[in-house]
Amino acid sequence: MIEKVLLGLLCIAFSACTVTQKLEDKKKIEFSNASSTAEIVKKLSSDEFEGRKPGSIGMDKASLYVESYFKEIGLQPMFNDSYRDSVLVYGKESYNLVGIINSNSPSDEYILIGAHLDHLGKRKYGTDTVYNGANDNASGVTAVLQIAKELNKHRFTKKVIVSIFTGEESGLIGAKHLAKKLKLNNIPLSYVINFDMIGNPLLSAPSKIYISGYDRSDFSDVVNSLLEEEFVKFEQVDRDYGLFRCADNYPFYLEYNIPSHTISTYDFKNFKFLHHVKDEFSLLDIEHMEKIIAKSTKMIVELLECNATITLRH
Ligand SMILES: [Zn+2]
Repeated sequence: MIEKVLLGLLCIAFSACTVTQKLEDKKKIEFSNASSTAEIVKKLSSDEFEGRKPGSIGMDKASLYVESYFKEIGLQPMFNDSYRDSVLVYGKESYNLVGIINSNSPSDEYILIGAHLDHLGKRKYGTDTVYNGANDNASGVTAVLQIAKELNKHRFTKKVIVSIFTGEESGLIGAKHLAKKLKLNNIPLSYVINFDMIGNPLLSAPSKIYISGYDRSDFSDVVNSLLEEEFVKFEQVDRDYGLFRCADNYPFYLEYNIPSHTISTYDFKNFKFLHHVKDEFSLLDIEHMEKIIAKSTKMIVELLECNATITLRH
């Protein structure tokens, strides 16, 4: 979650895929993340990674961890032979980590899923110094890693870019950089799904998510129709805080003018330690995260399987 939000700044069309066209054998999709969600988010938010400030040794270690995960699940690097997309964050060298899941079709269409890895680093606060950023945003990175693992077992019509961003807390710097670079490389993007803060359930609806910029596309209609339930809901904080412009989805909207949303379950009331040293693993609801990750995986699989179209609303 970018600092702007803390400061309180400003800031039906349906998919063509019918139920019968979906996967014949639903068991093909296994949501086998239960054993490792806790492990991943605990590691990412550990003191060892020193609050993951861009340019720090802790952030470098966290980046190496993500790279080794990408490698382990067999993700291809997006650019040349490396997952690293170098970007300067306030003069410090840092990296977006970008992999790709190839398609089963000659069509040149991409979607992007992402989450920011960076956080606030270390500052003196009583006896604790590490801003662990467990909810913000080790939780979202964990979701993307787990989802990528499942998606990479399949091939769809569209390719999937998997991006773990740097520099979000410094002003969406990593996402801005990647959006420009993809555009420059003529990569055609259809839509973007970003994850930010999914560590605790929404007070209004514990098993659901909300998206930023709810009104800006038919994403919720398409997804809820595919899932045959309301998984994506509207939360008033989206409108009150202008969240659409406050996370890594936004640079892709600006660059491409495509549907681009951030998924979250942080409603500004269910977690008291945003940008605080107490944003730690022990305060996360792992069972909630597992459910949200499993359902989000299903959501993205169905979007891809049905080759669904998401359309902007102006
Ligand atoms: Zn934040």
